Amino acid sequence: MTIGVLKEPLPETRVSLLPEHILILKKLNAEVFIESNAGAKAFASDEKYAEAGATVLSGEEVIAKSDIILSIHLPAEKEIEKLRSKIILGFYQPLYNPEDVKKLKEKKVTAFSIDMLPRTTRAQSMDVLSSQANIAGYKAVLLAANLFPRYLPMFMTAAGSIPPAKVLILGAGVAGLQAIATARRLGAVVEVFDTRPAVKEEVMSLGAKFIEVEGAADASKAGGYAVEQSAAFLQKQKEKIAMSVAKSDIVITTAQIFGKKAPLLITDEMIGKMKNGSVIIDLAAATGGNTSVTKNDETVVYNGVMIIGNSNLPATMPYDASKMYGKNICNFLQLIIDKEGKLNLNMEDDLVKGTLIS
Ligand code: NAD
Repeated sequence: MTIGVLKEPLPETRVSLLPEHILILKKLNAEVFIESNAGAKAFASDEKYAEAGATVLSGEEVIAKSDIILSIHLPAEKEIEKLRSKIILGFYQPLYNPEDVKKLKEKKVTAFSIDMLPRTTRAQSMDVLSSQANIAGYKAVLLAANLFPRYLPMFMTAAGSIPPAKVLILGAGVAGLQAIATARRLGAVVEVFDTRPAVKEEVMSLGAKFIEVEGAADASKAGGYAVEQSAAFLQKQKEKIAMSVAKSDIVITTAQIFGKKAPLLITDEMIGKMKNGSVIIDLAAATGGNTSVTKNDETVVYNGVMIIGNSNLPATMPYDASKMYGKNICNFLQLIIDKEGKLNLNMEDDLVKGTLIS
């Protein structure tokens, strides 16, 4: 079995595998090829990959020599042509990019998209959505703290008292919970909304206040994901969120619905009532955003409030992001490569079946 790693297009800084992952694949009897400079932005040099036992080649050679090709983003169209009869594995978000899936099918490429893993206990060690969302939640708070013109913790000093900052977090999934923990560590007072009442205990155990809105649609059978809510619920939720937004200094929004557009939770009017200098980080920007003014991968200033739609915060921490991504990928590869190092695609396995997009 040969496995190749491609260099990601800019502005991506992550890489599918770090040198430390090569040993895991060697144990699977796999030979690993790395495109030259693939790990440069994640502080992994070609020399380190070579020391770990991988062979560094040009991108073209990696594609030609590999049975399985790893790339976080889908390769460019002219490269897809060269992938005919090969296997690619990455983070391709097929539900938001159906045209890409069509291209892959036309070119007869076997493609696995790791973001399509069902959310089961067995899948946890491969769950790229979780490992990367954890970083996004942490970095969202640090970014907001950096831009916010005040302290987050409370201080009583000879120069006067500083009240703690008020942070509002919408959505307490993986990113939201990490954002709560990070904001609490920095001393902020934190309020949280989520449509899944099951997260209330987790939110409270992190020292935040959970604001309940009654009448949410039951999401217990949606495999861990949220479901769409009724217009009546959304209206009730909007009124409560409006009150919290008006008194918040920092808002981190993370609310997403798998495969659908993100719910609109914060309107222009609500932002208009926030204090000048407040900061909103919208982690749902790539799927439409949770505010009415969010622009994906842009920063908008509206009424003195900064709304940041940076949808690739994991790329701001490329080393740990690649370390976790690579471990997730190695765990998935162990599902589709047998002990003799041969490909073993068991279509009865829900994880293999669920991630196969072409
Ligand atoms: P996500 O990124 O899909 O959504 C983020 C959060 O937004 C969710 O908590 C969701 O309930 C919330 N949300 C959606 N609509 C909302 C609205 N209108 N208002 C307020 N909040 C709203 O979620 P996620 O981080 O991927 O995690 C979702 C759940 O799945 C969590 O309970 C997590 O622990 C679980 N999970 C399980 C596995 C596994 O078992 N393999 C892996 C990852 C996550």
